[in-house]
Amino acid sequence: MKELDWANLPFGYMKTDYNVRVYYRNEQWGELEVCSEETIPMHMAATCLHYGQEAFEGLKAFRGKDGKVRIFRLEENAARLQSTCRGILMPELPTERFKEAILKVVKLNERFIPPYESGASLYIRPLLVGTGAQVGVHPANEYLFVVFVTPVGPYFKGGFSTNPYVIIREFDRSAPLGTGIYKVGGNYAASLRANKKAHDLGYACEFYLDAKEKKYIDECGAANFFGIKDNTYITPKSTSILPSITNKSLMQLAEDMGMKVERRPVPEEELSTFEEAGACGTAAVISPIERIDDVENGKSYVIAKDGKPGPVCTELYNKLRGIQYGDEPDIHGWVTIL
Ligand SMILES: *Cc1c(COP(=O)(O)O)cnc(C)c1O
Repeated sequence: MKELDWANLPFGYMKTDYNVRVYYRNEQWGELEVCSEETIPMHMAATCLHYGQEAFEGLKAFRGKDGKVRIFRLEENAARLQSTCRGILMPELPTERFKEAILKVVKLNERFIPPYESGASLYIRPLLVGTGAQVGVHPANEYLFVVFVTPVGPYFKGGFSTNPYVIIREFDRSAPLGTGIYKVGGNYAASLRANKKAHDLGYACEFYLDAKEKKYIDECGAANFFGIKDNTYITPKSTSILPSITNKSLMQLAEDMGMKVERRPVPEEELSTFEEAGACGTAAVISPIERIDDVENGKSYVIAKDGKPGPVCTELYNKLRGIQYGDEPDIHGWVTIL
């Protein structure tokens, strides 16, 4: 294989050698299958195509300075996928099968795991879809679980930096009692217009308030929000936020650093009181927030006054990345070594 330009990989799909698949038929999960095809032959009446019976996950594998490959918190992704399955009536894939699939697909594509120095990583995408044919609105009786991987470049090519966000009231990502807490494709389809609007206005991403009252902070695009003030890490509690594993990890690290952690509704006005704030998720770990504009109400909450990431965001970012790459001790047992 021609050596890949590891430091300049985009965040996009690149063909690798293998994916792994597990089929659910006759009310049971089958054996793990290794596949080199990129396509999925499927019945045209499959429920994933018509009624959105589809769940996905996202996690990463990192190559350390010591050459070892570390996968971050995969049991958490297994548990979240199971929660999504309960949410849209799909059979739950047992944690052991999930783990077996992830380890297998990473091992089979080991040559695509970027070297430590590049700051890049291997993105792992598990996908579970209803493949059984239905025309009435019912859960399918057959499913396919597939996992593929693709190497992705470092998120901050020009160094860790801040971004501006914009509050969008015109579109909701998810309803208060809808599927926002599940990682399903439908939430993403619902977010496309808001995301396009934010980009058209020159912002990095859209910022959602709660759909019911438009008073409280929900999410920053497809990332969780957190704010820092008075030595406290504050993140919104809501019934329409996807429970981010990065956010959960940052809450623990903040506590380890001697900070207080609060998970509660965060009213929009409180944005003016934060010393720092960030969007968090697997892709970037933390994307520090420069400012959040509320264009309709003519307000602008400037968070990073000097335009630079603050000290707490920087420390949290370095700590979490350090654990992922094996530079920091894994005191919470978050890492699985391949
Ligand atoms: C996946 C996702 C996140 C981030 O979750 P992580 O587990 O930290 O990657 C946040 N919000 C939404 C809507 C998501 O789909």
